[in-house]
Amino acid sequence: MARCLVTGGAGFIGSHLTALLLEAGHEVVVLDNRAPGQARNRASLEGHPRLTVRIGSITDQFLLADLMRGVEAVYHLAAAVGVKLVADDPALTIETNIYPTEWLLKLALQTNCRFFLASTSEVYGKNPKECWDESDDLFFGPTSRPRWAYGCSKAIDEFLALAYHKKFGLPVVIGRFFNVVGPRQVGHYGMVVPRFVEQALRGGPIQVYDDGQQVRCFGHVAEVARCVQQLVDTPTAAGEIFNIGSDTPVTIRQLAEEVVARVDPQVEIAYVPYQQAYGADFEDVRRRVPDVGKLKRTLGW
Ligand code: UDP
Repeated sequence: MARCLVTGGAGFIGSHLTALLLEAGHEVVVLDNRAPGQARNRASLEGHPRLTVRIGSITDQFLLADLMRGVEAVYHLAAAVGVKLVADDPALTIETNIYPTEWLLKLALQTNCRFFLASTSEVYGKNPKECWDESDDLFFGPTSRPRWAYGCSKAIDEFLALAYHKKFGLPVVIGRFFNVVGPRQVGHYGMVVPRFVEQALRGGPIQVYDDGQQVRCFGHVAEVARCVQQLVDTPTAAGEIFNIGSDTPVTIRQLAEEVVARVDPQVEIAYVPYQQAYGADFEDVRRRVPDVGKLKRTLGW
């Protein structure tokens, strides 16, 4: 049994990871703010005897120092996420995603605790390759387009985490999440699957941005959480970066058609220009497919 801290543990992926860690017999401290939509994630865990939930901000240095006492493994998932939120408030994205990671790494050094950094496929930016592996270049757009603030902020986190591994031997693992779906995900941060389902259940139309030919791969949250748990428990993964997600490509149009077929064939699909959905300075990533060979070789699945 280990004492673990899960930042963002009441969020979508965090709550599934917390449940796994509790199942494995660990003692878990969750730090989360009260962001809307997360009450149901918290409710799914509440009352467990080995769980402590602290409501607070990841930007509160004193709270972090307090919570890190006696912790043997940190799962740092708290971040400003979702293309919509990030496009709306790039300053918040940077403040939430960079400084707290640095403070947590410093605190982790004191006990040499294992450290999982949740990163994102956004760090690849708009790299034109068919399929991205962990050694590929990062292709960001101009700073005048706020979307890239998210990927850049997480790339800085990765540099920091790798530097702490190299300089101090901190056992850090970095996971780049691709699109994740599953129970309790909500659509108000922009995530496409719950949005399409909610739109279809309301009678439509489903709003597909642009021509719907953009490609994503959707991994199930239960598998993603299990990858995170196992990577932190794998000594050879320390100091390494892993793509985490499904590698089955799906166009957004196919996704919309699948939702229509399952919810109600009468529902219409509407095609909406990006500018109308996200504002004038928005730029999308057309194709996002991971190479998950490294993950498979390391975990065996
Ligand atoms: N998308 C869409 N309609 C929506 C929300 C998203 O067509 O209501 C598209 C979006 O333009 C993107 C894809 O679905 O190409 C995935 O969007 P999401 O925000 O879920 O993830 P990300 O862009 O981070 O891959």
